[in-house]
Amino acid sequence: MDTNAPVLIGADTLETLVAHIFVANGCDAAEADRISHHLLGANLAGHDSHGVVRVPRYVEWQQAGYIVAGQSADIVTDGGAFALLDGKWGFGQTVAPQACALGIERAQRHGTAVIALRNAGHVGRIGAYAEQALAAGLISIHFVNVAGSVLVAPFGGTERRFSTAPFSVGVPTDPPVVLDFATSRVAEGKVLVASNGGKPLPHDALVEPDGRLSADPHTLYGDYPPVGPRNPAGGLGAIRAFGEHKGSGLAFMCELLAGAFTGGGTSGPVEGRGRIANGMLSIYISPKHFGTEAEFKRTAEDYVAWVKSCRPDTPGGEVLAPGEPEARLRAERLAKGVPLQPDTWESIVRCARALGVTVPN
Ligand code: NAD
Repeated sequence: MDTNAPVLIGADTLETLVAHIFVANGCDAAEADRISHHLLGANLAGHDSHGVVRVPRYVEWQQAGYIVAGQSADIVTDGGAFALLDGKWGFGQTVAPQACALGIERAQRHGTAVIALRNAGHVGRIGAYAEQALAAGLISIHFVNVAGSVLVAPFGGTERRFSTAPFSVGVPTDPPVVLDFATSRVAEGKVLVASNGGKPLPHDALVEPDGRLSADPHTLYGDYPPVGPRNPAGGLGAIRAFGEHKGSGLAFMCELLAGAFTGGGTSGPVEGRGRIANGMLSIYISPKHFGTEAEFKRTAEDYVAWVKSCRPDTPGGEVLAPGEPEARLRAERLAKGVPLQPDTWESIVRCARALGVTVPN
């Protein structure tokens, strides 16, 4: 019997359990539901790195006061079609949807809106915010950084300088096109998943201080126990930026726009900071206001179909549009359950029991 085979947990069961954990940890029911819905949404989309595997770490951060329950973002600057918000270290799943709702409302009023958010607790899967804007018929573009989290070596370097700085764009075609990725070769959460016995990393995902490429999570975390939280400060190596100089350049821009411009701070230097926060610079565009909505939709949908009709490079292969893999997995996992690595499930169970939460059999 394969003892490392994934455990299948029903989506509803998992969502309820995670919500109970956050209530037991001091969140009100609405916030606990938001956190659990968002984390589960990442698992459903296939981004297990940003799903419930994060529960023990979020619980720990909340207990340490790094993330604060019950916050709502303050508007620091309000220019109508632009605004700067301070998330005050609130849960990302609370303050980022709030920033996004403001961007939607302002873009519906003015045609476009630019919303800068700083000091948000970990906001999770960025595609969720592109999807929030898509539900309102809007294009959105999100530059994100992780202030205080320096994990990624720039092109040509071996030392950590960038965060995993994700980037996302949503385009309201039918079905929508949603691009959403970390600018690192892999998201840190994928190293976390690999360290828990999950999907192995590509051979060139990480770099040792001497420049050797590595797929070993110890490069990032140093020594770690089989089960329990991982500490990226423990390792001496770095994750590599994706896409050579071009991906590294996009990561650079995420740090400048989401970190320096929002005032939330860049990835580093991290001395004395002690906790991390997401910064997000988002642009919302309403095609309706530009007077091109119908033509835009038609041209874009024809174009998506043409791109997808491209001859595959392997027999039986298929060209997909960004967002398609997530939509397919979502349908499958909702029907069949969410596969979790045994170590991930065990760490959630331990976390629940430590908080007095009953775990369903
Ligand atoms: P990834 O490498 O899996 O790339 C995902 C993107 O590529 C999606 O847009 C997907 O639709 C597209 N894609 C995947 N396969 C495709 C195919 N065959 N054809 C066409 N398009 C395809 O993502 P990642 O870099 O591992 O990021 C994972 C998640 O981590 C993202 O949701 C990101 O937002 C999140 N993240 C969050 C933070 C944070 O601080 N909050 C930091 C880093 C990453």
